[in-house]
Amino acid sequence: MTLEIEQFMCRSDNFGVLVRDTESGQVALIDAPEEAPILAAVQRTGWKPTMILTTHHHGDHVEANLALKQRFGLRIVGPKAEAGKIPGIDEAVEEGATIPFGNHLIYVIETPGHTAGHVSYYIPTAQMAFTADTLFALGCGRLFEKPAAVMLESLKKLAALPPETKVYCGHEYTQANARFALTVDPTNSALKERAAQINRLRAEGKPTLPTTIGEELATNPFLRWHDPAIRRNLGMENAADEAVFAEIRKRKDVF
Ligand code: ZN
Ligand code: FE
Repeated sequence: MTLEIEQFMCRSDNFGVLVRDTESGQVALIDAPEEAPILAAVQRTGWKPTMILTTHHHGDHVEANLALKQRFGLRIVGPKAEAGKIPGIDEAVEEGATIPFGNHLIYVIETPGHTAGHVSYYIPTAQMAFTADTLFALGCGRLFEKPAAVMLESLKKLAALPPETKVYCGHEYTQANARFALTVDPTNSALKERAAQINRLRAEGKPTLPTTIGEELATNPFLRWHDPAIRRNLGMENAADEAVFAEIRKRKDVF
């Protein structure tokens, strides 16, 4: 029941991720940001993708859909709510849908906010989640198509996954996210430690992903709207969760 992962950079800061089921030999590509680095990864690993799991319609996540579909004859799965904007989509999926992958099931979790139809993919049997531009390491996606309240509900769903769940995200934004997180949550020692570790990784040119749900719960301000120290720091001790989250998101927008 083992899944292998190949994570690599595309464009300037997008991640490409290939997931291979060792038993069946099936290979899923999480989003298709750019053709050349994906082909290079396929060559390097010998893992020929059999499907693309699309998270949302933005160009930096679907650009290579049609080229890869033509080359590999693969199947493209994507969110029903924005199916009309996903090039080459074969199967439109909604909350709770399951996609067989070898002996695993990939669950669809609707996580709107960044876009109106954004979905995340979760594989409980492998303890992995692919959250693209909804949940980042130490951050969350910008609110382009839905308000803060909607994004907050999406993040709550991801926060409720088992803490050991490994999280793969759409972008390498972690270092900048850490700088911002420290302005909101400056006394969090787990965050300070993590920020230092992130600086070391980036200095060595290494990725900061995957992260885990547990690590994010301890350090990501966008999952810590309930935290008394953060609330005190924002002067929002008694505010609603949604207001605290919206304030943190607003501050990040202008950081
Ligand atoms: Zn996006
Ligand atoms: Fe993106």
